[in-house]
Amino acid sequence: MTVEMTRRDFLGAAAALGTMALASNTAGAAQGATGAPGGVPGVFPERGEFIVKNAHVLTMDAKLGEVSGGEIHVRDGAIVAVGRNLSAPGAEIIRADNMIALPGFIETHWHMWGAVARNMAGPTENTGYFYISRLLGQFFTPEDNARGVRLAVAEAIFSGITTVTNWSHNLLGPEYADAEIKVHQEVGARARFAYGYSRKTPPDATLPLDDVARVQKQWFGDSQDMLLTLGIAPRGPETNSIEIAREEWAFARQHGLPITTHMGTSMERVKKRQGIQALAKAGLLGADVVLVHVTNNSPEDLKLLAETKTPVSLSPYTELRTGFGITPVGSFLRTGVPVSLSVDTTILCGNADMFTIMKAMQNIENGLQKSEFGITSQRVLEMATIDGARALGLADYIGSLTPGKRADLILVRTTDVNMLPFTIATNMIVQSAQPWNVDTVIVDGRFLKREGKLTTIDMAQLARDAADTIERARKEASKEGAGKGINELFTR
Ligand SMILES: [Zn+2]
Repeated sequence: MTVEMTRRDFLGAAAALGTMALASNTAGAAQGATGAPGGVPGVFPERGEFIVKNAHVLTMDAKLGEVSGGEIHVRDGAIVAVGRNLSAPGAEIIRADNMIALPGFIETHWHMWGAVARNMAGPTENTGYFYISRLLGQFFTPEDNARGVRLAVAEAIFSGITTVTNWSHNLLGPEYADAEIKVHQEVGARARFAYGYSRKTPPDATLPLDDVARVQKQWFGDSQDMLLTLGIAPRGPETNSIEIAREEWAFARQHGLPITTHMGTSMERVKKRQGIQALAKAGLLGADVVLVHVTNNSPEDLKLLAETKTPVSLSPYTELRTGFGITPVGSFLRTGVPVSLSVDTTILCGNADMFTIMKAMQNIENGLQKSEFGITSQRVLEMATIDGARALGLADYIGSLTPGKRADLILVRTTDVNMLPFTIATNMIVQSAQPWNVDTVIVDGRFLKREGKLTTIDMAQLARDAADTIERARKEASKEGAGKGINELFTR
């Protein structure tokens, strides 16, 4: 079954049932009535042809740079041209006065299923993140996982993140993977589905590689737009033996699948397992492997990553919150290790805000260097856009506003109170902007957020589903008696 067929199947059903009704998106409805791109209640947004007019454009393309009073011409999901005075008769005009246009943010590591357990990491061993997520996760149905993913993707789009990495590690059976993938197709943001494990996967076992092959065949047949791509997310040599990693890596490389795994979350683990050196010796590093965190590794380890062009994914708010350490972003940059940015889990970090993630990267590095000039806004913006695309192997498709690439872009208002007055655009995005300033989000030429409203998400249903899932999982956990800490978390 191809991606396109599945989406059409879904849309047919959705239109019939009215499940995607979005009465609040009146602007989209009006535009839809005239055949323009945008949200029409009950209909997945079409890719149209339009010109974004009079934006301050941060292309993130080294050649095109920054264009004030700029225009972006988009047709059938692709960027046709970027510049000034573009001609495109018949294209819809999208006014972007007083807005900054830039590529959508690219996120490289997010345990999305857990979004419905937002903030549920308590202050003790019995209530902390690892304990609680393991406890609750075992009571999730495929639909619960799907609800988590939908909430996470909704927040991503709202916040200007156009590409997410669903680092899926609560896959209790094949139907969980299917349920999560369906959500990505319904909601429309670009996604890497990184097929992981579950807390029930035995320590001496690989991922269910047969099912990864099944999923690849069933869902990832002939995608041309790269909207949904598949990878694997094994536990890696800090948890499993290197023999298991060898098997998983060999499978992934035979099937053309990129790999991502956690690494270096504590000094003890690094000393005991020497995961990066083990991967290096086995020939398992490379541009197709995103290592997550790498907070406690040695300069020698980082050199191995630089030599093999192995990217890292840094999630400063969870690394700080959970005590992995202070994200050593400068060490990677100075050694030549490619850096991308991530959310990780909103159970710990609370929200999915790439603006504050970028701001944290800049401020942590300047603080560590004891210098105002440690790292520029432009450089951290690259990490959140083009370098994210490179880490996912998608830089030919996304990451900059370059003609020929897919049209993933966001428009950020500069007239909101926290943005005034217009000064230096890159500083405004990294230091001032917040998700609520994101007016418009376009993915593959489709408007997924328009005039501040999500077009493919029913917010009321989303809220009901999230509450329902977490209440039920909590009850199950208490009933089993497995979670002596679970009730301590709630005082109401
Ligand atoms: Zn993680």
